[in-house]
Amino acid sequence: MAITVVGSVAYDTIETPAGKRERCLGGAATYFSLSASYFTDVRVIAVVGEDFGKRQEAVFQARNIDTRGIEHTAGKSFFWEGSYLENLNEAKTHITDLNVFASFNPKIPDVYRDSEFLFLANIDPVLQRRVREQMPDVKLVAGDTMNYWIKDHRPALLEVLKGLDILLINDTETKMIAGNNNLVQAARAVMALGPKVLVVKHGEYGATLFHGAGAFRAPAMPLEEVVDPTGAGDSFAGGFFGYLASQPEQSPAAFRRAMFYGSVMGSFACERFGTERMQKLTRPEIDERFNIFRELTHLD
Ligand code: AMP
Repeated sequence: MAITVVGSVAYDTIETPAGKRERCLGGAATYFSLSASYFTDVRVIAVVGEDFGKRQEAVFQARNIDTRGIEHTAGKSFFWEGSYLENLNEAKTHITDLNVFASFNPKIPDVYRDSEFLFLANIDPVLQRRVREQMPDVKLVAGDTMNYWIKDHRPALLEVLKGLDILLINDTETKMIAGNNNLVQAARAVMALGPKVLVVKHGEYGATLFHGAGAFRAPAMPLEEVVDPTGAGDSFAGGFFGYLASQPEQSPAAFRRAMFYGSVMGSFACERFGTERMQKLTRPEIDERFNIFRELTHLD
């Protein structure tokens, strides 16, 4: 099974209580694909500038991620600067430079066309929709977004939501889209806009899956030190969707386990700056942490 993902591939400057890093490799599609690569084949669609070189490419290659859909063009790669000095659960954005993404027209390589799973990672909803329209036959489509797009690109975002099976966003984004401060009411309102399943991430407090009239909650790993939460949401999504794609059937039980794998991957992402931890995991390490999650929540 293969997932095609479109989203930002970026350079990030990040400040957290643990320190500051300048221009490390980041981006929603980067974190997502590294995380999902521990579960299934991943193919990326994105655009990068002249500042993206062999060293960055090697990060994807080391995880066997297909980068034939990453277009290289003149200009600078997407750049994001943010900090988590007051609240580790939510980034404060200082700079968003779309750069080469501002004029990106995504093309799907022919070799990606048999992907059964599509993930629309965080990027301009206009681009998410263009990719969705070029892949009408996928079996399952999931997506993400953030306050930057919710605030000023609402009509385009609403079009994307109509075409999603699963939406993964955080509490604040859920409430922002719905214009409602009660999480459950907001979740129902967001689902009425399209997604059949909504996964709401609560940072260090875990994540809740809403479906039909029901809900399922997965915890987060109690970590003694959160070094850098950047990419935790995308890594959660990579674990969640990667695990689902690896299963013969996307049954309710598979969705529940996927929530735990999402939490596992999100927790690893926080342990080091940037993508460092996501690059060097092993499947036994992942499964060991999955078992810790089992124990965390087991009653008898
Ligand atoms: P998260 O998982 O929410 O922490 O995502 C962090 C990643 O999102 C960073 O690596 C950023 O490069 C990327 N990012 C930040 N703002 C945007 C945006 N407006 N559109 C797409 N990606 C973004």
